[in-house]
Amino acid sequence: MVGPFIFSRLPVIHFGPGKIDNLATIAAGYGRSALLVTGSASFFASHLGETVLKSLAEKGIRVRKVQVTGEPSPAVVDKAVSENRAPMPDVVIAIGGGSALDAGKAISAMLLPGGNLKDYLEGVGTREHPGQKVPFIAVPTTAGTGSEATKNAVISEVGSNGFKKSLRHENFVPDVAVVDPLLTVTCSPEITAASGMDCFTQLTEAYLSTKANPMTDALALKGIEAVARSLPEAFRDGKNTGARAGMSFAALLSGICLANAGLGAVHGFSSAVGAIYEVPHGIVCGTLMAKANEVNVRALRRDRSADRALARYSEMGKIVLGEEGRTEDYYIDGFIDYLFRLTDELRLPPLGRFGVMKADIPGICMNTDLKNNPVKLTQEELAEIVESRI
Ligand code: NAD
Repeated sequence: MVGPFIFSRLPVIHFGPGKIDNLATIAAGYGRSALLVTGSASFFASHLGETVLKSLAEKGIRVRKVQVTGEPSPAVVDKAVSENRAPMPDVVIAIGGGSALDAGKAISAMLLPGGNLKDYLEGVGTREHPGQKVPFIAVPTTAGTGSEATKNAVISEVGSNGFKKSLRHENFVPDVAVVDPLLTVTCSPEITAASGMDCFTQLTEAYLSTKANPMTDALALKGIEAVARSLPEAFRDGKNTGARAGMSFAALLSGICLANAGLGAVHGFSSAVGAIYEVPHGIVCGTLMAKANEVNVRALRRDRSADRALARYSEMGKIVLGEEGRTEDYYIDGFIDYLFRLTDELRLPPLGRFGVMKADIPGICMNTDLKNNPVKLTQEELAEIVESRI
């Protein structure tokens, strides 16, 4: 029987190689002035940057530019908002990785109310955002976060009193997502691995989530299939456009799944670690994914009421192993082995490489929200996961 569920709105999605060519026409549908948010400073000197600026100019769209380096902080968003409210742009366009998309999403949300972003940030401020925003177009250039389809922007302030929290509202789902896999071919193997594992974690956590529903299940399984087929190949050969398309598709699905089913322990860790250290988000997810799932499975096997979650692990094992006719336990163990092999194959670095120390473990575990993890893990189990990847 199909149970009841609610599904959030989606952006209008333009997916496929070359879809970036439609961006100016789509933007022109919103007006004649755009605020363009990008990640690296080199974007405007790149072929992509020149093409985008030329096509926007040809449509008579005036462009103001904001560049955001690294994962966005409240200060960066507040500055961009105060400098670009008068005159108000007709549309905000963000082109880049999850950091640029989240910066653009937060800017589009803060342009109308103005003021301090922190006031509206989950777990930090106390004000409720009214939900009005300037129309927002998201153009991802990494295949990972799925931010092009989610209702939250992740904002961090890194340090001893740091945080990594979301600005969230149903209306913050981008109005349009232009997902052109060709934009990701310039990603290095390291960026491909980190963002790809963020996507893989989002898909598995949404599928295992206590909030999963039949729509997210269908999309998550399709996404997991695409990751198994495409991630190792995109890592080995970044110019393989078939593999890049597979990962862009998986990332888009992962965003839709996370927005509707929530996440689990690995994303809980990523907020706790990302608040203290500047570790790329995808690396935290990727490096902890195998061990966290191994510990999850061990805890689930202790609890015989956990048949639903174990059956889901088995389903994922069937997909990544591509074998028929085996037992449930074979697929579950095979899935965990696959994750450990993938961690090695993608050469995901341990957290110690970014300064995380053993002494940090209790603090990290205390601040790790298990979110919608299929099983409750103890502080000792959480510590075991982090310690294995220091
Ligand atoms: P990123 O945006 O930080 O980019 C990583 C690096 O890749 C940067 O140096 C960037 O300049 C570079 N880069 C981007 N596109 C490139 C390209 N095509 N070629 C070469 N280099 C390129 O990394 P990310 O993993 O995409 O995003 C991480 C951020 O997204 C984190 O802040 C994370 O918290 C957030 N996130 C948000 C959501 C959401 O739903 N809003 C979901 C997951 C993660």
